[in-house]
Amino acid sequence: MSLSRFQALDTILNRSGFELEYVDVPDPKISNFFGCNVFNDESMKEYMTEEAFGNVKVAIESGAKLSREDADIVADAMKRWAMDHGVTHYTHWFQPLTGRTAEKHDSFFTLRPDGEVVEEFTGDTLVQQEPDGSSFPGGGLRSTFEARGYTAWDPSSPAFILEVGEGKTLCIPTIFVTYGGDSLDYKLPLLKSQSYLEKAAIPVCQLFDEQVSKVWVTLGWEQEYFLVDEALFNARPDLLLTGRTLLGKHSPKGQQLDDHYFGSIPERVYAYMRDLETECHKLGIPVRTRHNEVGPGQYELAPMFEEVNLAVDHNQLLMDLMDRVARRHKLRVLLHEKPFAGVNGSGKHNNWSMSTNTGSNLLSPGKKPGSNLRFLTFFVNTIQAVYKHADILRASVASASNDHRLGANEAPPAIVSVFIGETLTKVLDSIEEGAAFDEAGVKEVIDLLNKIPNLELDNTDRNRTSPFAFTGNKFEIRMVGSTMNCAAPMTVMNTIVGRQLEIFQKELKELMDKGQDRNAAVLTILRRYIAESKAIRFEGDGYSEAWEVEAKKRGLANTPNTPDSLNAYLSDDAVKLFTSSNVFTEKELHAHYEVMNENYIIKLQIEARTMGEMVINHILPAALAYQSELANSALNIKSLGLSEKEYKTQLDLVKLIAENVSLIKQKVNEMTNVRRDANELEDANEMAKAYCYKIKPLMEEIRTYADRLEYLVDDREWPLIKYRELMFVR
Ligand code: ADP
Ligand code: MG
Repeated sequence: MSLSRFQALDTILNRSGFELEYVDVPDPKISNFFGCNVFNDESMKEYMTEEAFGNVKVAIESGAKLSREDADIVADAMKRWAMDHGVTHYTHWFQPLTGRTAEKHDSFFTLRPDGEVVEEFTGDTLVQQEPDGSSFPGGGLRSTFEARGYTAWDPSSPAFILEVGEGKTLCIPTIFVTYGGDSLDYKLPLLKSQSYLEKAAIPVCQLFDEQVSKVWVTLGWEQEYFLVDEALFNARPDLLLTGRTLLGKHSPKGQQLDDHYFGSIPERVYAYMRDLETECHKLGIPVRTRHNEVGPGQYELAPMFEEVNLAVDHNQLLMDLMDRVARRHKLRVLLHEKPFAGVNGSGKHNNWSMSTNTGSNLLSPGKKPGSNLRFLTFFVNTIQAVYKHADILRASVASASNDHRLGANEAPPAIVSVFIGETLTKVLDSIEEGAAFDEAGVKEVIDLLNKIPNLELDNTDRNRTSPFAFTGNKFEIRMVGSTMNCAAPMTVMNTIVGRQLEIFQKELKELMDKGQDRNAAVLTILRRYIAESKAIRFEGDGYSEAWEVEAKKRGLANTPNTPDSLNAYLSDDAVKLFTSSNVFTEKELHAHYEVMNENYIIKLQIEARTMGEMVINHILPAALAYQSELANSALNIKSLGLSEKEYKTQLDLVKLIAENVSLIKQKVNEMTNVRRDANELEDANEMAKAYCYKIKPLMEEIRTYADRLEYLVDDREWPLIKYRELMFVR
């Protein structure tokens, strides 16, 4: 039996003396324990000889393969370090296309053939493992006879110790590939895209500064989420199984008063955040910011930015920690993009930029004239890349759950546009309109760039309706969904900007070969890009209907659902881009596409079935019981000899309930039939479309009738936790 609504509410209200679970922070000085569970440089130095440490660092930084001997040395050091921390097991920790992380634990302990019992961990086991891959999505990359999947150590992300209760496991970040080396995860394409971008960006940097020999992508994510009490969560089958409410009449009070955003953090939530942050700090996740978000019960957490590979791992790890820690506090975290209809959804803003070995942020306008031209180069090339490949960027953030944000005229819209703020708009406009780039023209632009006040740049983060906004020294990609693996949009960003920089370089060389001065040539090309990509720049309200109309006029795509947007991955353009950049093979691209369609279908299948069960098992019984009570009441009054006028209200209600009961039952039957037909379709994208265009509208209709019944039925008989309770009972 599942927890009934009133049992659940009782559980919360009777939690008298409910102790807030304050977990000790190991030290008020976070720097004293930050990263204590990470096998970082400090631990490596402690457990390895100086020479071995040097070799490993060189191999990691250059991306070269570690020799077998060195791998053995690292493995042994890792094992000793881990065991000194009380670790018994190790696991290759990877990111399959399910969107979450996966792990299979093995113990260090082993029996030698001669019966000797030892703790062992060799270089071979560190470098490669073979978990059974057959149950992970592979999009047809594996035939059943070679179901094996391999995990391979990614030395660029350090190993860490995950503490679960009393157990401690050494987690080794790995990539996940097939027998033939095809990627089955989010990490391998990300790593490839990062090195592709780096290769393209270095020569462009060197135009302005010869010292630049390394470029890496930086990512700072902001994670939004909701918290609900575990008793309420467990009493809603839809939250339990799908992470969102499939039904539920809106609460009269939602977020209208804007009294939650940046409001004071409830004490119970504060205890959760503190506990979570401590766990993060131990694992070297540099979280710094926490606040209430717009929706009642919605919060946000953000770290300092990091190198993209590490930031992706940290976000994946964070989502796992958020769930574990919430349970300790009798809470559940909702990472879903749209847990409640009518209330703001959750995103995961991805702040994206590039850094160099010389300590510069390539998207930060510097003080020196040279660096400002460099800034302009990277800035304009990024906009041009997004303009040319907006469809792939859109596809990279497509999912069943994120469709509730992007496809619903909510923050941010499904139309990709770029917001850059007033100051930079003026700069780009004047370059576009300016005279030819002789020496005076170049000087004029550089003077203009030097006048960009930093303060004003910081103020550009005002347009919260833009899916892609320049916020002072990085682009903030706001279309990313809260449940997503950041690697997918990051891979696309790196690839499209890498490609754009290659094109830029080629065009620049042509102009310079013709004898044009470097700065003049740069500006000539940028001016053309500024003009070409203008359609994608938009400073107004991204949620408005006027923008939809305007965007259409400008020829910008508006693709509100996943099955349609995914097709961008298979366009000739995309295939050429991904294969020539070596980020995906054509086979991998098809497989990833297939998996994304399948994920969409499965999510909707589960939702539709859960909804059907809720209607039949919860809503209909409640509605019919109340209806029969009303009918009895009418009969009783009638038996007293009173006229129909005296029991008309009951009769009206009986009829209204009957009407909605009949409609809802009919629609649930219809949905079952349509689903049966959809499931017969062979092609995954066709099936996804059937779910999108035929089943989703039926689900909306069913919801309407269910919510009407919720409004009509006696509150004491309504079995499902109501919106007002989910959002406001603490
Ligand atoms: P909000 O967008 O909620 O107003 P901020 O703009 O302060 O909040 O968000 C800052 C985020 O941007 C942080 O996660 C931070 O780490 C990240 N960030 C700052 N600089 C960079 C950079 N150069 N590259 C990537 N991310 C960055
Ligand atoms: Mg933000």
